[in-house]
Amino acid sequence: MSGPAQFDRIALIGFGLIGGSIARAAREQGLAKEIVTTARSAKTRARVMQLGVVDRVVETNAEAAEGSDLVILCIPVGACGAVAAEIAGHLKGGAIVSDVGSVKGAVVKEMAPHLPAGVHFVPAHPVAGTEHSGPDSGFAELFINRWCILTPPEGTNPRAVEKLRAFWAGIGARVEIMTPEHHDMVLAITSHLPHLIAYTIVGTADELEGVTQSEVLKFSAGGFRDFTRIAASDPIMWRDVFLTNKEAVLEMLGTFNEDLSKLTRAIRRGDGEALFEHFTRTRAIRRGIVEIGQDSAAADFGRPHEQLEKKP
Ligand code: NAP
Repeated sequence: MSGPAQFDRIALIGFGLIGGSIARAAREQGLAKEIVTTARSAKTRARVMQLGVVDRVVETNAEAAEGSDLVILCIPVGACGAVAAEIAGHLKGGAIVSDVGSVKGAVVKEMAPHLPAGVHFVPAHPVAGTEHSGPDSGFAELFINRWCILTPPEGTNPRAVEKLRAFWAGIGARVEIMTPEHHDMVLAITSHLPHLIAYTIVGTADELEGVTQSEVLKFSAGGFRDFTRIAASDPIMWRDVFLTNKEAVLEMLGTFNEDLSKLTRAIRRGDGEALFEHFTRTRAIRRGIVEIGQDSAAADFGRPHEQLEKKP
């Protein structure tokens, strides 16, 4: 326990990678007297009960929201509006309502109109994740030293914002505040476009005619393998990200296509100088990420090779 609990009751609606990690971390840090959760399917709810990392598992979103001081929607972005409508009449006065969605403009637009006056809406996005999902995939350390971006609408009670900031800091995150529009633009380049590129390249390799699929898998350590990790991310979550952050992604994609054309031209013309200059610049960005502690300098995204099982 790290001091007195910040909340009497926290409700986590959705218990996958993010909801499950918040539950584990908040419990470990003693940030709530009670943690209540629910998930869409009876199967997930039963599994959460077995895991024993929350105090109560309830059947409905409304039941979870009832009497909770902090309600966090940990579900796909596309489901947030409907769930906000469902819980609206069950929220306690003064409660903080938040989410963890990877897109913020759409979440604000879909959720805000349903929430009653007297409830504080502070959307959030922890910029931390893995390619795994489901109730078993979460872990308490997921947010340590990762950024969590809060996008409170104008006029939000500053005390509510501060309370949520302290909560995320309590589970290890560093917190920054920005507008939903700016968030969506930043994440379009740092997260959404990289996922789109990974999904594209892995799909392209899958459909090649001159190279067999077994060759693609066998020689994947040449670079392809690292894209497959990103392209293994949850299809529902990522479908929703591209449907809801359309404008910012299309804008970044336009810039990306122009830059790809420049590199294509350099290759076609045999312009080694242009290629060398470009690759030198990008290498420096990788060093910068390591320097600010957002990744390890170890090869393979820091995964030790001993973890790989030997296959025939
Ligand atoms: P996840 O592991 O797939 O878990 C999703 C949870 O939401 C499950 O408990 C699921 O219930 C529930 N759910 C799904 N559809 C629902 C619906 N229509 N109504 C109510 N509940 C529903 O997903 P996750 O990775 O934790 O992602 C959750 C949110 O976090 C997403 O908005 C995503 O954008 C955001 N996020 C993800 C990452 C990441 O790397 N994964 C990082 C930062 C933020 P069942 O199990 O019963 O289906």
